[in-house]
Amino acid sequence: MKIVLLGPPGCGKGTQGEKLQKSFAIPHISSGDLLREAVSTASPLGVEAKGYMDSGRLVPDRLVLDLIRERVARDDCRDGFLLDGFPRTVEQANALAEVLETDGEPGLDHVIAIDVADEALVERLGARRSCPGCGLIFNMRFNPPAAEGLCDECGTELVLRDDDNEETIRARLAVYVEQTSPLIGFYRDSGLLRRVDGSGSSGEVSERISAAIQGGND
Ligand code: AMP
Repeated sequence: MKIVLLGPPGCGKGTQGEKLQKSFAIPHISSGDLLREAVSTASPLGVEAKGYMDSGRLVPDRLVLDLIRERVARDDCRDGFLLDGFPRTVEQANALAEVLETDGEPGLDHVIAIDVADEALVERLGARRSCPGCGLIFNMRFNPPAAEGLCDECGTELVLRDDDNEETIRARLAVYVEQTSPLIGFYRDSGLLRRVDGSGSSGEVSERISAAIQGGND
């Protein structure tokens, strides 16, 4: 099963990606996480990517594509994968199709687009805290950890991402509208798109996603 999760920052791709990884036993590949890892180890790619990420702009395709190509070629992706945050432009979507084709692999099975209103996104992102240890995501209002500031899973201190401040959030939303939202039409035309309402609890959204995967096209 090869799935792409599409949607604006803060729509719940990370949380839903973790759930889908468990239900389908496929790796959850977040391009943002791969980039943040490169930044934290100060690899040449990470050093180059950091300025783009801090200002909410997209990292150049050549950097992201190398990371994704290398990741989906690994053994654990033999039975599929779930991409979160990639592709983010029509160019990246074409490059992904090319990678799968060149490797003689079947293409994507589903593209799930999660819809959430802009104001709710800004509110959610400002209250988001993530665990640098295991990657679990919390929301201080809607899904707080049991012990204040600590991850439920591994006890690591939760952090606010550098780019989850209001100015950068607004920049990321504008980038989404301009550069990523054309992918909705792109994947609708190829018959892969399923649109899902991203409001409500993560359990409700995950039920809608399961129904969309089992159901027909949008
Ligand atoms: P995310 O964790 O998906 O919100 O991504 C955080 C940041 O990483 C984005 O604001 C971009 O700067 C960068 N990024 C993540 N995925 C991509 C991608 N597919 N193409 C370009 N930049 C990306």
